[in-house]
Formats: sequence, structure tokens, C-alpha cells
Amino acid sequence: MILKKDILSCSLSELYSEMESIGEKNFRGKQIYEWLHTKRVHEFVNMSNISSSLRTKLNDNYCINSIKIVRKLESSIDNTVKYLYELSDGNHIESVLMDYKHGNSLCISTQVGCKMGCSFCASTIAGFKRHLFPSEMLLQVYEAERDSGRHIDSLVLMGIGEPLDNFDNVVKFLQILSFETGKNLSLRHVSLSTCGLVDKIYDLAEYRFGLTLSVSLHAVSDAKRSKIMPVNKKYTIGELLKACRYYIKKTGRRISFEYAVIHGVNDSADDADALVKLLKGMNCHVNLIPVNQIKERDYRSDKNSLYSFLGALEKGGLNATVRRTLGADIDAACGQLRREYEI
Ligand code: SAH
Repeated sequence: MILKKDILSCSLSELYSEMESIGEKNFRGKQIYEWLHTKRVHEFVNMSNISSSLRTKLNDNYCINSIKIVRKLESSIDNTVKYLYELSDGNHIESVLMDYKHGNSLCISTQVGCKMGCSFCASTIAGFKRHLFPSEMLLQVYEAERDSGRHIDSLVLMGIGEPLDNFDNVVKFLQILSFETGKNLSLRHVSLSTCGLVDKIYDLAEYRFGLTLSVSLHAVSDAKRSKIMPVNKKYTIGELLKACRYYIKKTGRRISFEYAVIHGVNDSADDADALVKLLKGMNCHVNLIPVNQIKERDYRSDKNSLYSFLGALEKGGLNATVRRTLGADIDAACGQLRREYEI
């Protein structure tokens, strides 16, 4: 079997080399790149300024990856739309399109499933299947724009998967996404959320992407964090915060710490005080998330404790907010739709 190359995952410079490798002038690479990423024409046959002999060559050597919307849930409360996509190998992933004051934001998946094992997260329960290719991350954006007719202004890598566990593909995706030919999205409008893969935070800092790094903290002591986030057994909170400080220094960007507030687990007054001590003086923001209930766990959030927690952080001088809930009627939290579908 001849494996065809995934042309939608190629950067422009890779396409130049690809064209040379099949005996073509490299400017053809630019034409094809524009078809794929600016005009979003995803069939070689419709690329009208490409000769039919080159189209045949392209067909013989490359494939244009595709994803299909198999389910779509639209909120009747706000403009949130949740997409369930089927990949070309039959796997499923999710994206959520949200309407914020500053524009439309899309939350995308970076892996099929997740191996990180966080106890409160629906995405990890059925385990990990595979990494997504850059083309499959781009297609979540292109398909959501095509289907909704809405322009996506910002992006969050907070759907299914751990983006830093798929480091090379995510970096390539960000480079294609922000390239002037194509979506041309400033990476200042991108947030990447990680459970805290410390070595990759150092690697990411070197790219100075300008994106916002969100770090899922969720607990203030190693004993507590290790219980709900197995990644903490590999990298302690101390090591994680050291990497975060390095990231802030290197990129000049503040970090956003995610804290899912779980009643009776991490929402006591002592937890709040410890969080203030941990983050005081750091250029950061704390995003409190009322834990989203998933049917496999009995975690829940308590409104009074949540707001007392917020008050304690503010009193301690931290910059903190409670995340607004969008798409509450369609279970817009990641991982839940895919799970229903796969069982
Ligand atoms: N793997 C990455 C990104 C995916 S999860 C990470 O861990 O950051 C995106 C965010 O949603 C993370 O902060 C994650 O901890 C949080 N999350 C997962 N399940 C949740 C739930 N049931 N309630 C609230 N937040 C949840």
C-alpha cells in the first residue's frame, strides 16, 4: 500500500520542497497552499489554476484530510454550538463554538482521548487513542467556520486531549494557523491549556508564541493534586511553578491558572489561603471553574463556597474570576458528547 502524504498538514516551506521532490517548480506550492488554507478548496480537481497533469500527480502522492460533522448541538440559551466530528479513520472528537463579547471563540481537541487521567475529566475516562495531526486541528476551525458562517476570532486548545503531549503537531498547527497566507490568526488570540507537562512548558517558552498559557492547577498541595491529577506524581507543584515563572520571564506573558472548584475536595478556606501563598507576586490570573458534573463521578460545586473562595483570593491580592458557563443546556464541557457517542 502506498501511503499518501497529508498535504493539509504541510507548512508552506514543506510544500515548496514537496513540489521539488515531484519535479515541479516550487511556486506551485504557494498556489496549492492558497487553495487549501485561504480558499479552503479541498479537492485537487477544483484547483483551477493547476494543470490536469499536476492534479493527477497530486492525487497520486497526497491526500487532503477531511473531517465530518456527525452531530451538532445548538444552545437555546446562548449562541454556543457543540460539534461532534468524525475523523477519516472513524474516530470522534469535539469542538465547541462560543459567542463572547469580543467575538467567536472555538475550543478544539488536540488528541483522540487523553492519557493524563485527571479524575474529574470526561475526556480521559475511555483512555487515549491517538494524537491529532495538524490538518485535523485546522479542519476543526475550517469546518466550524464553514458550517456556522461565523468568523472565528480566537481559539482555545482546551478540548479533548493534552496539547503539550502532542507537542510537534500542535506547534505545526499553530504555525499554519497564524501564517499570513491562510487563517492568519494572531497567536495572541490563542490560549493553550495544559495539565502541567513541565519539560514541554520549557520547550514552548522557546517559541515565544505570544499565546496565553493556561495551567490546570486544581489543588494546592502535592498530596491533594496527585490524588486528582496523576501528572502531579511526575512533576510536583514546585517544579510546575518554577517552569511557569520561567515561561512568564521568557515570553512576557502572564499565566492563567485554571482551578476547578470541587466541593469538599479543594474549596476550603485553607485551600484558598494556600493558593494565595503559592501564587502571590506572580504575573498571573486565576480562573475558577465550577466543576462540571460528569456522570461517572459525584463531584459538584457549591455556589457559596465558590464565592467565598473567590473572595479570599481577591482579599489575598490575587487576580481571580469565575468562568462564565456557556451552553449549559447542551453539556458543552469537553469529552461528554464523544463519550455518549462511543458507548
Ligand atoms: N489537558 C489540558 C486541556 C484539556 S482540559 C488540561 O488539562 O489543561 C481543559 C480544562 O478543563 C482543564 O483546565 C481541565 O482541568 C478542565 N476540566 C476538565 N474536566 C472538567 C470538569 N468536569 N469540570 C471543570 N473543569 C474541567
